[in-house]
Amino acid sequence: MSKSPQDLQIAILGAGMGGLTCALALAQQGFKHIDVYETASDLGFVGAGIQLAPNMARVLDRLGVWKGIEAEAVNLEETSVRTGASDSELAHVALQYIEKTYGYPHMVGHRASLAGGLYEGCLKHAQIRFHFSTTAENVTFGARPTFTAVPRDTSQSPYTVEADVLLGADGIKSNTRVGMLELLGIQAGVQDTNQAAYRIMIHKDQIQDDPELLELINSNKVVRWIGEKRHIIAYPVSNNTIYNLSTTQPDSNFAAATNATYTTRGSKTAMLNVFGDFCPKVQRMLNLVPEGEVCEWKLRVHDPLPTWVHESVALVGDACHPTLPHLAQGAAQAIEDGAVIAVALAKLPDTTPASIHKALKVYEKVRKDRAYALVDLAAASGRALHLGDGAAKEERDKQFAALKEGKGPVPDKWADADVQRNIYGFDCTKVTEEKFDEYFA
Ligand SMILES: Cc1cc2nc3c(=O)[nH]c(=O)nc-3n(C[C@H](O)[C@H](O)[C@H](O)COP(=O)(O)OP(=O)(O)OC[C@H]3O[C@@H](n4cnc5c(N)ncnc54)[C@H](O)[C@@H]3O)c2cc1C
Repeated sequence: MSKSPQDLQIAILGAGMGGLTCALALAQQGFKHIDVYETASDLGFVGAGIQLAPNMARVLDRLGVWKGIEAEAVNLEETSVRTGASDSELAHVALQYIEKTYGYPHMVGHRASLAGGLYEGCLKHAQIRFHFSTTAENVTFGARPTFTAVPRDTSQSPYTVEADVLLGADGIKSNTRVGMLELLGIQAGVQDTNQAAYRIMIHKDQIQDDPELLELINSNKVVRWIGEKRHIIAYPVSNNTIYNLSTTQPDSNFAAATNATYTTRGSKTAMLNVFGDFCPKVQRMLNLVPEGEVCEWKLRVHDPLPTWVHESVALVGDACHPTLPHLAQGAAQAIEDGAVIAVALAKLPDTTPASIHKALKVYEKVRKDRAYALVDLAAASGRALHLGDGAAKEERDKQFAALKEGKGPVPDKWADADVQRNIYGFDCTKVTEEKFDEYFA
């Protein structure tokens, strides 16, 4: 009897948003042998918020995990873009129309809630096996890809894993990506964006005596405070019990660091200095961060890759399309990847390596141009937000002024209705179903 696609052995490297979605979506399509290898001992997600855009929610809902994530999230009704120094409003955009138009509201939540929801969903499927504390090394590419699984527990020996399909969802520092590029002789380096980010969470009990900050945490609003080369985006998460801030500023701490360095413990004084000319409300929030708990992220992206697929191996998520956070789409795009891969593999007419490769190429065709367009748009939006004095800023501020009259595009691209149509209106699962035969041929 010939093997069905669902009998294929699938190895997933990395249990981030991309890897977890691949596992869950494949299980939902009936795949029986799904193994996830994760270097960390658990999900270990940073304390930070995340935007849950409708294109992400649509996938999560089909995977049966949206309701739980939604229950802890905050439904956004509006966004306000403000001058960092004066706190004066540059633009106000209502967001309630989104649910009516795209079927899901734009929500914001805690990363632990999103990752936990996906993980809980996976645990309901016995065909998904997790191998935590296990690092994947030496990926080989072929009809039956392999890698060496190295358990952190040194009393256990490294072992070789062979699979029919290997999905490299191993993040921005992906070993799978490096191995694939080396093999193919492709030069596609890491780009330094010269930007870094602080991520901060303020708990409601820290601000009981501050009515202005209480108003922010109790709101259903994203606020972006902007200034030259810097901004802060902030919103409540976890049923309005935590106020989440994510900053962007020029990188100074990582400039001399190797490409392997992505996070560092930051100095509170340095953080306060970077935003020293921002309004008192912002200063009060930054001051609430305990000394010694300032953590800074380097923001890097990659040169675009000519391919995400080699033989029966595909790259997923940040491994192939890391992005600046200014469109809030990085995880959403990794989640789209997982959904598309599962549909493409489930539609395999047979299980030959040639067909597996072609199905993975269908995934790439549905996803690659879209993901890279959003990477470019996120970078462009950041440039517009970070303008200093000059003609370009005057032009941008004219757009903000026109918005007050209800006209024209929003320079903060995630809040622009045309951009939202492109991002939220795209049903990645449906497109894969519809295009599979054409792209597979
Ligand atoms: C400041 C900031 C704000 C952001 N805000 C948003 C937002 O609001 N909305 C949004 O959608 N996105 C946002 N993002 C982007 C988002 O966080 C990432 O795009 C997303 O987490 C990528 O998921 P991933 O699964 O591809 O990679 P990761 O989450 O990095 O997961 C990769 C996993 O692979 C594991 N791993 C790595 N190497 C190996 C190995 N060799 N063997 C085994 N396991 C391995 C890692 O431990 C990790 O768990 C933001 C990013 C930043 C930096």
